[in-house]
Amino acid sequence: MSQTILRGRVLTFVSEPQAIDDVASYRYYEDGGVVILDGKIIAVEPWSAIAPLGADYIDHRPHLILPGFIDMHLHYVQSQMIASYAGSLLEWLNTYTFVEEQKFSQQGHAGSVASAFYDELIRNGTTTAVAYCSSHPRSVDAYFAEAEQRNMLMLGGKVMMDRNAPDALCDTAQSSYDDTKELIARWHGRGRGLYAISPRFAITSTPGQLEAAQALVAEHPEAYVQTHLSENDAEISYSMELYPDAPDYTGIYENYGLLGPKTLLGHCIHLNHRETGVLAETGSVAVFCPTSNLFLGSGLFDRERLVKHGVRIGLATDIGGGTSYSMLRTMDEGYKILQLRGQRLNPFASFYMATLGNARSLSLDGTIGAVAPGNAADLVVLNAAATPAMALRMATVNSLAEELFLLQTMGDDRSVAEVYVAGARAKSTLGGL
Ligand SMILES: [Zn+2]
Repeated sequence: MSQTILRGRVLTFVSEPQAIDDVASYRYYEDGGVVILDGKIIAVEPWSAIAPLGADYIDHRPHLILPGFIDMHLHYVQSQMIASYAGSLLEWLNTYTFVEEQKFSQQGHAGSVASAFYDELIRNGTTTAVAYCSSHPRSVDAYFAEAEQRNMLMLGGKVMMDRNAPDALCDTAQSSYDDTKELIARWHGRGRGLYAISPRFAITSTPGQLEAAQALVAEHPEAYVQTHLSENDAEISYSMELYPDAPDYTGIYENYGLLGPKTLLGHCIHLNHRETGVLAETGSVAVFCPTSNLFLGSGLFDRERLVKHGVRIGLATDIGGGTSYSMLRTMDEGYKILQLRGQRLNPFASFYMATLGNARSLSLDGTIGAVAPGNAADLVVLNAAATPAMALRMATVNSLAEELFLLQTMGDDRSVAEVYVAGARAKSTLGGL
């Protein structure tokens, strides 16, 4: 049995904040203690209740201890092509992405990229992410092997794509079915790994491949499903040309039985009324990827409209269309997108989205996303005075809301003082810092 006690200012959410003064939506301990036993949180109390135990502890005051960040959508195989200069999604995919992802057929490449990628997640306070691998099964093996070694709860899957990409990247409907089936058997539920069946998007899958995906979803209700939906106008028109019988883009995935409460749909920017209704009815999750949407000029996510229709929402970086691994940077850009929509997102709601909100959208609340007994001790320790400019501003901060807003507006990996994965220190033990 291994016990660790942390002391610091503890913040965790219990429900979605409806306004900046919605104090019932979170628990905050100005001087709190977190007791961790064998990787799980067993108690969260004011320090006065823990001090009498007289045990050794790690003192993180004056920093904030929160649940580790959860990133709902990214491509680990694009780690070496972030910041590629392209005008829009389809040009970016053809010019850079489909070239870069071919490298994952080479022995050893996936392992070295996976290792660097996980270091970057930890550096930024992200303890769980949902990734697309490449179409090569070995990229999935490298991804989950690295997660297992680090004891991280990670989700992901092999991209299924059998057209409209270079031959070297394309699988076939049958091989993508066979490979995915084998990978689910190998990795789903091993360590903390969870598999996501991952047809890339309608453009790169033939009807035969979406049928294969449909069969996989029916045969593996334990697995997640992830794909892209309604990111960019040209993508939408091309998808409709390829699937002329579908009522709209969402209808393509709907017709192949790919929607449901474990389905994560990247982007969802330009949905019509029917599509929004279908996402709500099926419990599918619309994943907001702000830095990517701005970088590729894809459009402005309409959070309020989706919330009003009862659509579940996630927040993500979308590396490498996204431009930062940091969920703090992601919250900042998300705030700005919603400002342009006339939808002001308060900082409690932002931090909720990156923690408990995303855990709920993965149906993993109770396991991750909260500093609460029974949850894994996946934690981030945040310093809102990490840079001279932040310290200067922090001197005039008068409330927790102001501190959180400062963190999301100016913070990045430098604001992440420490990270715990299943109770073990993960950032300060990274090599090469
Ligand atoms: Zn993506």
